[in-house]
Amino acid sequence: MFRTVNALILREVRFKESDRILTALTADMGKLTLAAHGALSKRSRIAAATQQLTYSELTLFEKNGRYTVREALTKEGFAGLRQDLASLALGSYFSECLEQYAGEEQSEPELMQLGLNSLYALSEKMASCEKVKAAFELRLMTIEGYAPAEESCAVCGRPDIQEPVFEVEEGQTVCRNCRKAARVLPLTENALAAMRYIVHAPAKKFLSFQLQEEDLRLLGAVAESWLLHCSDRQFQTLIYYKNLSP
Ligand SMILES: [Zn+2]
Repeated sequence: MFRTVNALILREVRFKESDRILTALTADMGKLTLAAHGALSKRSRIAAATQQLTYSELTLFEKNGRYTVREALTKEGFAGLRQDLASLALGSYFSECLEQYAGEEQSEPELMQLGLNSLYALSEKMASCEKVKAAFELRLMTIEGYAPAEESCAVCGRPDIQEPVFEVEEGQTVCRNCRKAARVLPLTENALAAMRYIVHAPAKKFLSFQLQEEDLRLLGAVAESWLLHCSDRQFQTLIYYKNLSP
């Protein structure tokens, strides 16, 4: 049976002489494993559209639950990512995160939109790597049901949290004087406002906030720590990205 899907290629692995095994994200079918036969041969018509970090229209042939790519057309190649090592590394980290959280055989429209919007912003240099990374991480956690508690101090309940700090183990924001956890990360009023914005913003506008460099650095540390805490694993692509830009 043939079917056509729009897919973001999250990962490609060389298989045999010239085949690729792909991990792809689709809005309707979630995460898929696909075989792209001959994709690495010189005359392949599907080579470009089956590269990692490409958004493509794929014609799939399905037999016994296995999918083979028969046709592939690039819809968005994110060319800007391939001109900048840090952007490419960060895009790869986004891919690894999406692969971690996307379900198989279930629709994932929000993850798809987050992935495409984030990669597009990086590729078109609409925002700095630091900004897109922090917003992606917080937004991903929100979509997956792990939104950080940001509305009021989790201890005293006041919405105007005094000298806010983030308790990583609890995923909550508290006043400096209310803190109980041993491990906290500092925030500022502006960084907290940006966190609140990212959690609640419409999907297309999740990057429409402004932050000074120091506030963004604090927000970035909270976003990354929270994602790693929730994921309970390391991401090799994140380690690579951070080694590029210490
Ligand atoms: Zn408090």
